[in-house]
Amino acid sequence: MKAEVAFYRRLEEKNVNCEVCPHNCRIKPGRRGICRVRVNLDGTLYATNYGEHSSIAVDPIEKKPLYHFFPGRNILSVGTVGCNFSCGFCQNYRIAHEDAPTRFLSPDELLRLAEECRARDSVGVAYTYSEPLMWYEYLRDVLPVIKEAGFKNVLVTNGYINPQPLEAVLPHIDALNIDLKSFSEEFYRRQCGGRLEPVKETIKLCAGRTHVEVTTLLVTGLNDTPEEIDELSRWLAGIDPSIPLHLSAYFPAYKVSLPPTSRATMAMAREVAARNLNYVYVGNMAGFENDTLCPHCRALLVSRRGYQVRIDNLDGDRCAVCGQTAPLVN
Ligand code: SF4
Repeated sequence: MKAEVAFYRRLEEKNVNCEVCPHNCRIKPGRRGICRVRVNLDGTLYATNYGEHSSIAVDPIEKKPLYHFFPGRNILSVGTVGCNFSCGFCQNYRIAHEDAPTRFLSPDELLRLAEECRARDSVGVAYTYSEPLMWYEYLRDVLPVIKEAGFKNVLVTNGYINPQPLEAVLPHIDALNIDLKSFSEEFYRRQCGGRLEPVKETIKLCAGRTHVEVTTLLVTGLNDTPEEIDELSRWLAGIDPSIPLHLSAYFPAYKVSLPPTSRATMAMAREVAARNLNYVYVGNMAGFENDTLCPHCRALLVSRRGYQVRIDNLDGDRCAVCGQTAPLVN
């Protein structure tokens, strides 16, 4: 189903300028933007993926990954098609860049599904799998419906959006996991077809206003030096050292056939990042401890064995041992 795009300008000769994301595509009649899901039809810009779901599942919330937001619970997870990045190492390329089959769900139908999933311990809806910000017109309508019914809204995103559209939906978002794919402009330009600065702006804009966790996929030889990991984690700590950073291991996918991230690289990256941040986790690779400890007294707050999660010493948002605030939403 198609819906008129929320943020764009009409130009001369039926051209349009999309203002949803920092690509700010100028689109001629009959043409699509970089994300492929916005099309100029005779001078009006439409999103063609409105309500179209390519993937629907109930997942552990740790799989998003979110480790400090309702640990141990599940979440209904949905995704559409399209992406405004072109990462050669995309781990979800079939739905992001190819034509996956979709099923339409109106906002009320998604709410009914969220209600059914309550029985499976789901806390709400995660918009994930491809790039949820490319679902912007649907999000604008569905987020308030889900939130007003008492559910949580979670976005797993590349953070590549303009500030004005982000501000318009932020009050309805309870948590985000934002990819910070590298700390190099060149990496973003060459590997993703985007820019680093707007992603940093998104993280700064969201942190402190809603729950934020960050993920960095370490791609062998492209963004995995100790210097870059130090710079990235130092910058994140400047916003808030308690923002959880998930370092994720890469596996060859889509157009990139570099070797998988090594165990030694993951261990090094964790050690470097943990000098700057209170919570650094390792994902996509077995054998690393991913427990959450109290930053004050080091008591075990949450233990994790894969997706087996146990809450040990949490009393609401406080450590039950020393009484200090623990930055977990529970
Ligand atoms: S949302 Fe799509 S069409 Fe709009 S600026 Fe971004 S990539 Fe271009």
